[in-house]
Amino acid sequence: MTCNAERIKTILDGVIHPETGQGIVSSGIVSDIAMQENGVIVTLAFAKQRDPFANSIKRQIIGAITAACPEYAGRVVVTEREKPAPAKKTTVSSTASVKHIIAVASGKGGVGKSTVTANLAATLRDMGYKVGILDADIYGPSMPKMFGLENYTPQATVENGQEYILPADANGIRIASIGFFISPDDALIWRGPMATNALKQLMHQTLWGELDYLLIDLPPGTGDVHLSVVGEVKVNGAVIVSTPQQVAVADVRRGIRMFQADGINVPVLGIIENMAWFTPAELPNNRYYLFGQGGAERMAKSEGIDFLGEIPIIQSVMEGGDSGVPAVTTNPTIKQYYRAIAERIVEKCNKEA
Ligand code: ADP
Repeated sequence: MTCNAERIKTILDGVIHPETGQGIVSSGIVSDIAMQENGVIVTLAFAKQRDPFANSIKRQIIGAITAACPEYAGRVVVTEREKPAPAKKTTVSSTASVKHIIAVASGKGGVGKSTVTANLAATLRDMGYKVGILDADIYGPSMPKMFGLENYTPQATVENGQEYILPADANGIRIASIGFFISPDDALIWRGPMATNALKQLMHQTLWGELDYLLIDLPPGTGDVHLSVVGEVKVNGAVIVSTPQQVAVADVRRGIRMFQADGINVPVLGIIENMAWFTPAELPNNRYYLFGQGGAERMAKSEGIDFLGEIPIIQSVMEGGDSGVPAVTTNPTIKQYYRAIAERIVEKCNKEA
């Protein structure tokens, strides 16, 4: 009997895959038989990435063909079809369900960036939006204290086979803070890649759910964390916080330029002047501009960005920061300043979108 392709096919179907008990031709493992002038090439396609029986099957094929067709002895080649690379498990960032991501930045520390983030979040919530805060200030995470969450222990959960971190809920504001994972004493050793990696995880793995606004409280200045945040998620806009003293300082301009730089291209929504003036309790109609008036507005103009509004120095703002409830919740005066600023931000975000 001549050893043509048909005959070889029959011979090969006598080779049984031990797991299925079926012949390797009828079960589709043999994908091709190529009769060459002086040999035969059998191509196999196993269903599994690594079939444990592959080698023994290859040996059996060679044995079976050479037994039936001795003219092919030493001229049987068995190959495996190249398998497509296994589908990489893509991790869907939990920020995918967030409509607007806003970074809150400042040139220097202590200007009230975190206070502004917390109060803006509470204002947006009161306006009916779903709001979250990512506290990315790895050098001084203050959201736990501002929302009375110092003892909060983050919980993990699994959804659709993916592991997530549950954000804390502060009266409807979803909060994830790097501070939940480190004690203030350890903050100093959290520099460089360790901190940015932890932050990336927090960014992508917090179960934010549907959010209208996610505010990211960045560390002061410009640095690795800023680059890592803008590199990881689509930041829709940046808000710069400054005090009258700090507004003329180069750090603020540097901060603005960083967001505007090529390759970063985050629209700067504008600047907020915090601690703009002081009103003593006994003289409620007096405004004392201790560090000059209108500096932030002038600076915004010269930088070609918007001035979003000003917030005075108010005793209860300081107390709000310590009491676990943002001042806008209890102080109607401060609430109106924040409301005006939040409305401008919402309007700008809707335009940018
Ligand atoms: P940053 O995040 O820029 O480092 P914080 O938000 O921690 O600054 O604020 C620094 C301090 O200033 C805090 O004690 C805070 O309570 C206080 N503070 C911020 N804004 C005001 C304000 N408008 N009036 C009074 N105190 C304020």
